[in-house]
Amino acid sequence: MNLAVWVERHGRRRPDKPALADGERMHADWRAFAARTAGAAGALRDDLGLSPGDRVAIVMRNRPEYLEALFAIWHAGLVAVPVNARLHRDEFAYVLDQSGSAVAVTDADHADDVESLVGTAASLQAVVLAPGERWDRLTAASPAPLVDRQPEDPAWLFYTSGTTGRPKGATLTHRSLLIMSLSYFADIDPVMPSDSMLHAAPLSHGSGLYGLPHVARGAVSVVPESGGVDGEEIAALLRHWPGMSFFAAPTMVKRLVGDRAIAEADLSHLKTIVYGGAPMYLADLEDALAVFGPRLAQIYGQGETPMTITALSKEDHADRNHPRWRDRMQSVGFPRTDVEVRVVDDDDGELPVGEVGEVVVRGDVVMAGYWERPEATAEALRGGWLHTGDVGSFDTDGYLTLRDRSKDLIISGGMNIYPREVEETLLRHPGVGAAAVVGRPDTEWGESVVAFVVAADGVAPPPVEDLDRTCLDHIARFKRPKDYRFVDALPTNNYGKVVKRELREQLRAEAE
Ligand code: AMP
Repeated sequence: MNLAVWVERHGRRRPDKPALADGERMHADWRAFAARTAGAAGALRDDLGLSPGDRVAIVMRNRPEYLEALFAIWHAGLVAVPVNARLHRDEFAYVLDQSGSAVAVTDADHADDVESLVGTAASLQAVVLAPGERWDRLTAASPAPLVDRQPEDPAWLFYTSGTTGRPKGATLTHRSLLIMSLSYFADIDPVMPSDSMLHAAPLSHGSGLYGLPHVARGAVSVVPESGGVDGEEIAALLRHWPGMSFFAAPTMVKRLVGDRAIAEADLSHLKTIVYGGAPMYLADLEDALAVFGPRLAQIYGQGETPMTITALSKEDHADRNHPRWRDRMQSVGFPRTDVEVRVVDDDDGELPVGEVGEVVVRGDVVMAGYWERPEATAEALRGGWLHTGDVGSFDTDGYLTLRDRSKDLIISGGMNIYPREVEETLLRHPGVGAAAVVGRPDTEWGESVVAFVVAADGVAPPPVEDLDRTCLDHIARFKRPKDYRFVDALPTNNYGKVVKRELREQLRAEAE
């Protein structure tokens, strides 16, 4: 099945209802959305000479045309390569080249960078600007018939955000995205056609993926005019669009929690905030629940198994009287309906409850492989299971708690130290706003624990003795940081994830 069939169907079923919105303004109803995608699909084929299976990159900040391009690409049987719009030009070049993208759809903000790649990135032949006069012409072309797609045909090359090494293109098929969408309904939320999906996070990542179940159901996709997260704007959009859900990284949730406009907003139109992609610390989650109420759901996933490994449901968040509520809030939840999830040892043997090992996943949502990277694919999918590189353990109820990415693990004096646990502990101190814990090479211990600490808003950095005391009160002595670095901010990538690699490199450079 070709996922673009959803747009075509809603074009007939609810032609006059809003499909795409630019803030409060309707950009296209379903009739227009369907006509524009079918028109652009024909033009991609006839004017630009593309054939089913060819790749088309999208390098754009969030805007309604993003979704037009995505569904036009699918309608024509092509493969979309949504590129993180905040990457450097050389990184665009790498992704376009590696994916063999023949055409890129881009906006004025990125046109110079992308156009400069025509002729240098081996495959790139043409760049289409959207919005713009050419995009209007392409979308007004006569509608092409929907190209038939098999479930295993690639739909989206998801380039992993690269907190570790060169990005690889996880090949997501029409089947994996369909299963991802259906399991959203099974585990996160039912979606009604009267609902809205706000794209405050990048469409090239979680927000775009979780936009799909909303398109499937005929809900409206709303792109904030700022293209990002702004408390005042979200408060205004909440007045306008009912049944609103959005995807947000934990850092974005935290920013909104502290926002005055959100504190004063009428949240009756807010349905669900799906957060994930990085650890949400308990102290931050409690603050978020105080502001948003039981409207939070957590997902744990990765590009390789799009947004679908486990989830901590809204009901879990609301179940405060449960004796293990705090533990659950520090977990990433329960396996999703459509996947098997195991924790395994180094030989891929399944580990019993409580033991810590690598998280592996199997199911139809899992990627077909990394685009043109057979060795990396064989390694990641060995034995038929996706090896996530994340380390965690199950509890007796079946909730999974992540300890860390395996490479983040610190081994000091032969003892395993999971940075997340130390970070959770430091965040218990009211003077700590954010913390990242990494290992530093140490001649005596192998590695020693270093904490990078950002003071909470408006307060001076807490004395080291206080932080030590907090650690000694809650975790084993050997896990306590040997060194504290007070910084103004932690380095984050474009998706708001802390890039620990940079912290480790800084420490290594100092040592040298
Ligand atoms: P990406 O493929 O860029 O989305 O990165 C996926 C990685 O982000 C996972 O392998 C985890 O290490 C991390 N991650 C995703 N969701 C969560 C979560 N809910 N809690 C903690 N870490 C997460």
